[in-house]
Amino acid sequence: MTLTISTVSLRPESFLLLPQDGLLLVDAQGVVLHVNSIARRRLSVTPQAFNGRSLGELWPELAELIERRTDWDTTGPRDETVVWAGAPLSVRTFRTDSGVGVGVLAGLLEPETPGPRQSLVENVLEAVSDAVVVTTAEYLDFPGPVILYVNSAFLAQTGYALNEVLGRSPRLLQGPMDEDPSTRSRLRGALQKGERTSLELVNTAKDGTQYWVEIDLVPLLDGTGAVTQWVSVQRNISERRTTQQALAEQALQDPVTGLPNRFALHSRIDQALQRLNRREGQMAVLFCDLNRFKEVNDMHGHHVGDQLLVEIAFRLREALRPEDTLARLGGDEFVAIAENLVEEADAVQLALRLKERLGAPWAIDDQTSIRPSMSVGIAITAEASVTVDELLRRADMAMYQAKESTGAGVAIYDRSVDDQLKMSISVRRQLHQAIEGGGLVLEYQPIVELSDGSIHGAEALVRLRGSDGLLIPPSDFIPQAEVTGLVVPLGEWVIHQAFSDLKTWRDRGRPYAMSVNVSPSQLRVPGLGRYLLEQAELMGIDPRWVAIEVTETVLINHPKVTYDELSLLREAGVKVHLDDFGTGYSSLSWLTQFPVDAIKIDKTFTADLGIDERKTAIIRAFIQVAQELEFAVVAEGIETELQKDWLKRMGCDRGQGYLFSTPLRMDTGLWA
Ligand code: C2E
Ligand code: MG
Ligand code: MG
Repeated sequence: MTLTISTVSLRPESFLLLPQDGLLLVDAQGVVLHVNSIARRRLSVTPQAFNGRSLGELWPELAELIERRTDWDTTGPRDETVVWAGAPLSVRTFRTDSGVGVGVLAGLLEPETPGPRQSLVENVLEAVSDAVVVTTAEYLDFPGPVILYVNSAFLAQTGYALNEVLGRSPRLLQGPMDEDPSTRSRLRGALQKGERTSLELVNTAKDGTQYWVEIDLVPLLDGTGAVTQWVSVQRNISERRTTQQALAEQALQDPVTGLPNRFALHSRIDQALQRLNRREGQMAVLFCDLNRFKEVNDMHGHHVGDQLLVEIAFRLREALRPEDTLARLGGDEFVAIAENLVEEADAVQLALRLKERLGAPWAIDDQTSIRPSMSVGIAITAEASVTVDELLRRADMAMYQAKESTGAGVAIYDRSVDDQLKMSISVRRQLHQAIEGGGLVLEYQPIVELSDGSIHGAEALVRLRGSDGLLIPPSDFIPQAEVTGLVVPLGEWVIHQAFSDLKTWRDRGRPYAMSVNVSPSQLRVPGLGRYLLEQAELMGIDPRWVAIEVTETVLINHPKVTYDELSLLREAGVKVHLDDFGTGYSSLSWLTQFPVDAIKIDKTFTADLGIDERKTAIIRAFIQVAQELEFAVVAEGIETELQKDWLKRMGCDRGQGYLFSTPLRMDTGLWA
């Protein structure tokens, strides 16, 4: 909608010029800049006759009048009568941004009393709380639009006096721009096209303070439809903006540390990727995960945990360059973004610097202090085509690698590991379903007495039936089961199934022993021992028929739980066999710290028997120590008669391997 001002006429006192008045603009040197169409008509001149020429030559009376005037700053617009073409003419002179403006007024000046309609409109404009500004529609660029009217609300908003604004350009409200530059161009576009528009921008008051206004800009048309003036209604929305901004900031800020949160991080990475698009170099996303933060929370409370997070935010921030971003994802996860990296090594350097700065002691109270530490995963890209989520996912994955590795606690994203892990996700899913839905299978491999070849017992070896029906070997899913905790239900299933089969054998008069494998993580939580003994009792199995196979790592740095579980089992008569002996630390001193019943020499030693002299000597030594300490020796992986004979001669008690049998399902092969 557009208003047509020609239907309203206003007092000349409050309106610098009315639509029917002409306008002449003169620069500071007295050269005519512009004569508008009304002035041209009133003076009967062509623009060519006036524009760019000296006013002194064209209209000496007026030039003299302007020259004489000294009260510009105090009085504002002044009305006078000058002679033009032999007749008196009313003019109004005032200051403009470029020099002087001269209103060529319609009719001679005479004291005027406003009609009731006029005063009503004016009173309305004076009463509204929004600032109202009316400007000329011409001279967009130079010398700029001229302010013809402002209401009291405008003066209150800006702090200017009426004299200081009439005749000037609205540009005097323009300070150092801090709104979106696109707003200014939208404004220009609307002005050029003569379209009504609404926008929000920043105004600068006389004293320099800036405030946000919502501007409604309406063109006023003359009878021919040409835009003659603009009315701009300006509402101060600073307060709303401030609350909006505060809310927006809150929504983007982590309340504990004040750092950008997950949301903000997303857009920061996005922006960085866009910048990457425009220039050379690489950017890195560093995923930082604190180690053992949960312990601090659990032991000292969330209050202390929060304080630690604040401290950590501070330390990390300090170790970064000002232009880098640091955000908190939540929990004990922080993410840093570093741009303009020359090479991969820069990102690693940065990660190491962060870790170092983080690691200074932090006092919880007078007695306790801790050294925070973290693992850092790095994802680097030189291409902007990668998505934010993908970049974060890569960094996250690298972080897990960093946690698992024993090195510096820093890892760079590696595609091949990624592919492996992706595969393992499907394995995890299968495993989960298998434990619940009968997709697990046990095979039994005989353990043979080397002295007479009789079967001592069986080792239960678990397999996962894949969706294609093929059996997946334990090496492909036990590690997944361990990290996901699925190893506990898996282990229980194995025990239950193995016991059930053992019972069948025993009932058939076969006095076999049964070995089940137990991984370290199964012994790190309490419960395995009790479960096993309960099942034994329930199914009529004597615990002395059962052996659990553990690797040396179980005995090294074992937590108390592991020790308790193993003791419980041993006291009940369950044997403990040390599996894969020779591949780990193989320190015989472990054997004195925790008594075992047998060691199983790893198949890599068996394979080199008689070939590798050193390994042969080591096996001989193992067997000798075992005899001294009175535990049994089982050799794994016997594939040839030759290997069997060597072992027998050296005094090895039992053997296991393809020479005797591969692992087989119950009731097949030699188990039938
Ligand atoms: P392990 O306990 O050392 O089991 C012996 C492995 O050697 C088995 O592999 C077996 O198939 C293989 N093997 C047996 N004889 C020979 C031979 O003559 N030559 C060669 N080259 N290999 C032979 P499998 O079944 O793939 O099991 C791998 C590992 O998975 C086992 O090593 C054990 O540590 C683990 N595992 C198996 N079942 C379970 C289970 O129920 N729970 C847990 N936690 N781990 C299990
Ligand atoms: Mg084993
Ligand atoms: Mg083994």
